[in-house]
Amino acid sequence: MESSGTQQLDEDIAMRKYCKKTIIKMKLKKRDSGHRQNTSRQKPEFEDPALIPQQLVNLLKMKAFREKLKTAAEMEFHDPQHCRSCQVKQAELARDDFIRRKTTRLLSPLLEDKIQSHFLNRNSICLIGEVLRDLPRPTDDPGLVWEALKAREVELTQRKCTS
Ligand SMILES: [Zn+2]
Repeated sequence: MESSGTQQLDEDIAMRKYCKKTIIKMKLKKRDSGHRQNTSRQKPEFEDPALIPQQLVNLLKMKAFREKLKTAAEMEFHDPQHCRSCQVKQAELARDDFIRRKTTRLLSPLLEDKIQSHFLNRNSICLIGEVLRDLPRPTDDPGLVWEALKAREVELTQRKCTS
């Protein structure tokens, strides 16, 4: 890349300027410390924002931005049609889907049979239950059984006449 070369040059110049400034400041401090020691107003140089040139800050910001841009571009160009892991995943999903559909198709007649037989069994059981419910029990009072039978007969003859 052409711009990275000039950028490196700018960075070197900024770095050299920064180092020169720092050295000058340190020399001044050393000279001053001979006259007044341990003054509470003194700050360590790395806390002084004036020591870091704005040019270097800007360059580093620009560099970080370019890196971000590069990463974003790489991510955007991800093409699933040409990506090996994406293709493998797609094949797996297609196979699973195929198996699921075939299994459903094979199981559905079996399920239908089961439902039918269950329905029939339940129906015959219900019929037997209904017949048993209407039959008199041996413990029933014979008088009441007779009454019920006669009432039933009356009911049946009435039904025949009306229909
Ligand atoms: Zn992929």
